[in-house]
Amino acid sequence: MNITLSIASVTAALLSLAAPAARAADCTLNIEANDEMQFNQRQLQVDAGCETVTVTLKHAGTLTRNVMGHDWVLARTADVGALVNAGMSAGLAHNYQTGNDPRILASTPVVGGGESSTISFSTAKLQPGGDYSFFCTYPGHSVMMKGAFVFGDRSGRRVATAALAKPATAAP
Ligand code: ZN
Repeated sequence: MNITLSIASVTAALLSLAAPAARAADCTLNIEANDEMQFNQRQLQVDAGCETVTVTLKHAGTLTRNVMGHDWVLARTADVGALVNAGMSAGLAHNYQTGNDPRILASTPVVGGGESSTISFSTAKLQPGGDYSFFCTYPGHSVMMKGAFVFGDRSGRRVATAALAKPATAAP
């Protein structure tokens, strides 16, 4: 019985990933940051059918960008620590981001209170079910300003992760 239910939910997940109906409205994300060093969302999710994602970061506070600036950077979760450290060296003049770094999958510039930034990026480099995070690279902020970025739905995430798993013998 459990196996039957499990197959049914996997099938439903695959069908929902393939369904074109709900994709248009799901490719735009809005997130706010504030003077308390916080994003207003801990997780962002877009449909795996989105070829382009548009993100608007709004700084809802009043502090200037050199005091409490925020950016929105997307990367594989495994790269977050290294990117935060590299960004610190890059400095505010470079938005606390290393230029042309392939590990940065998408990013806004640093904005201050009352400002906002909208970016669009291709999802060609993203894999459904991949482990991605969004975070702020302003020094010290990523401890609090970090969240999960889900590409595809939760059911699809499990399916995709299993499908991507390769036998250990495939490693060189
Ligand atoms: Zn920040």
